[in-house]
Amino acid sequence: MNELRKNEVYEGRVEDYSHDGMGIIKIDQKPVFIGDVLKDEVISFKVIQVKSKFAFGKLLSVKEASKNRQTPPCEYYYQCGGCQIQVMNKEEQANFKRSTVERNINGLAGLNLEIKETITGQDSYYRNKSQIPVQKIDGNLVMGFYRPRSHDIVDIDHCYIQKDSHNDIMNFVKGKLIEENTSIYDEVKHEGLLRHLVIRSNHDDSEIQVVFITNGKRNEFLSITKALKEKYPNIKSVIQNINDEKTNVIFGKRSIVLLGQEYITDTLLGKEFKIRDRSFYQVNHEQTEKLYQIALDLADLSADETIIDTYSGIGTIGLVASKKVKKIIGIEVVDTAVEDAKENARLNGIENADYYLGKAEAVMPKLVKTGVSADLVFVDPPRKGCHREFLDSLIEVEPKKIVYISCNPGTLQRDMKYLSEHGYKAKSVVPVDLFPQTKHIEAVTMLERV
Ligand code: SAH
Repeated sequence: MNELRKNEVYEGRVEDYSHDGMGIIKIDQKPVFIGDVLKDEVISFKVIQVKSKFAFGKLLSVKEASKNRQTPPCEYYYQCGGCQIQVMNKEEQANFKRSTVERNINGLAGLNLEIKETITGQDSYYRNKSQIPVQKIDGNLVMGFYRPRSHDIVDIDHCYIQKDSHNDIMNFVKGKLIEENTSIYDEVKHEGLLRHLVIRSNHDDSEIQVVFITNGKRNEFLSITKALKEKYPNIKSVIQNINDEKTNVIFGKRSIVLLGQEYITDTLLGKEFKIRDRSFYQVNHEQTEKLYQIALDLADLSADETIIDTYSGIGTIGLVASKKVKKIIGIEVVDTAVEDAKENARLNGIENADYYLGKAEAVMPKLVKTGVSADLVFVDPPRKGCHREFLDSLIEVEPKKIVYISCNPGTLQRDMKYLSEHGYKAKSVVPVDLFPQTKHIEAVTMLERV
């Protein structure tokens, strides 16, 4: 009876969540992944795909609903791939994120640490960066976000998680693009002009940047730029970024200023940061301040200490810590980000920060050879986590403390396990919800040398 078959309908209680927020029900000892269900719910579902180790199911009906189920607040939720967990209320999103961190750190890595409650915040209209693809379909301009696992755009006039100022500007630009009959990029034929519209803003919307990403450098945006400036005086920067490549990477290497400055400025924990179009900057201002504050508290810095800020981006974490310590050494692989970090140090009158351009796994071993010593190292890698060579050189530096900020619990557990096998122990991990309504999870921890 309980054999797993495609197209068969089953009923069961959701046992757990997968890392991407799907529910799991085991049939015939195989996990079946089902979207839009909550833990402990009894549901009926149809199996739509069977693989050797797992299967996928589609929800048919909820027989016993969780008290934490909610109607998705966004009308596009079931088409758009931008959000994954809008059927969970805030409490359940926090539970899901905490349980994922727990499963990684205590389950997979077997570290047995305290996993704190997820730090939550405002869960709508928080994203300060929107990257909106533009296409023309049967002569109609569409702008929005991709459907799950596809390059088809869901045409939207309102996104529940990007800032409302961005919704406004997006719709205004769309109207202008139609009016002007602007050339739009066709990714199959690799021809046409406008590929993406990017909007980025600071915490109080006093500075906004609009970027037109184009295939080729033809400028068809003079009149739109003028109209934007008239309607939105807080747009301080309009940029054309050129990306001629046949690629999914959004930004190209060259940017031209169409109006105003090259950057916008934001404040973070009392420091100012200039941000250029291609530099990494956290997308959720409120939660980033909480995240950095926790990182600083865990670091518990003192005036005679030297810190290394690895994966430093535009210098944010190191610079907010700068007044408390003797010296900061930053390492970052993107050249414009290193320039930004140096500029941001100057902007804040910080003279004790040095930056090295290069991969952390290449620069750190070189620093070790020069006999560098550090009391604390901040580690804030991208999703793929740290390179083994980086971790080895980090261990050689022998800092008293390592504060690790991660956007991927899967690589966090791998790296923490390695560090724990080489003399570093953590007590707890704090999940911070930087990306409400989505499956993405941020976490921070402090490891101490024992
Ligand atoms: N700490 C910064 C940036 C974190 S994002 C902040 O909080 O804003 C991760 C950063 O690591 C990005 O700036 C990215 O360009 C950089 N990066 C990616 N791979 C790297 C590597 N191998 N070595 C050094 N930096 C890297």
